[in-house]
Amino acid sequence: MTSARTTPAIVLRAVNYGEADRVVTLFGRDTGRVSALARSARKSQRRFAGGLGLGTVGLAALRERAGAEMMTLESFAAEGAGHVALGADVARMAHAAYAAELVTKSCAPHQVEPMVYDWLAEMLERLASGAPTAERLRVFELGLLRALGFLPVVDRCILCGSRDAAAPFRWDPDRGGAVCAACARRGRPIAFETRAALARMAELPLADADGVSLPADVNRGCREALAEILDLHVSGPLKSVEFIAKLSNGI
Ligand SMILES: [Zn+2]
Repeated sequence: MTSARTTPAIVLRAVNYGEADRVVTLFGRDTGRVSALARSARKSQRRFAGGLGLGTVGLAALRERAGAEMMTLESFAAEGAGHVALGADVARMAHAAYAAELVTKSCAPHQVEPMVYDWLAEMLERLASGAPTAERLRVFELGLLRALGFLPVVDRCILCGSRDAAAPFRWDPDRGGAVCAACARRGRPIAFETRAALARMAELPLADADGVSLPADVNRGCREALAEILDLHVSGPLKSVEFIAKLSNGI
């Protein structure tokens, strides 16, 4: 018995398999993350128009067979030419790979997350048309955490609610964000400017990320704080992080 379904989908990964096939990891808006065998994908231009490059957004026709471990990707029609623009620029590609890896490692197979899907699709679209910036990556990370229900508390002490801007705060990912020094037993210090920047960026749509320009130390503080939170919610190390760090001198 087989069943077919069509869903908007994003290519998270594609590897060659056998003579002409590819095994594709897709993030489907209606299916969550699935693996599918794309038969003759390296030969058929008709069924896989626009290719299966990382970050390609399109419409996937999937077929499920009872008893078979992997779905079959019958066709994939890329929308727009965003993936082409991505592939032409190493920094954009690195940011796209990082965004895709974050989603891959924070969503379990078949976990349906339409908000995460829309957020990633928009991120890829914006990367294709604008410069890759650290600020946009931070806005993306915050939006992903929000969509998954893991947005950290940054504007007050998570334990006593203190909003005292003059008081020293610490960062405690296990507790879910900022803790004032009076309550804190652990965690490294986090600057007020870093917390303020995180609070501001957490409210932003990706469209407004281009309007944010942070000093390098604040940017680094935000990156490190979010990396600690993300570390708790992703499975395994993030391979694309080092690549981005090399491209951007650690910002
Ligand atoms: Zn407190």
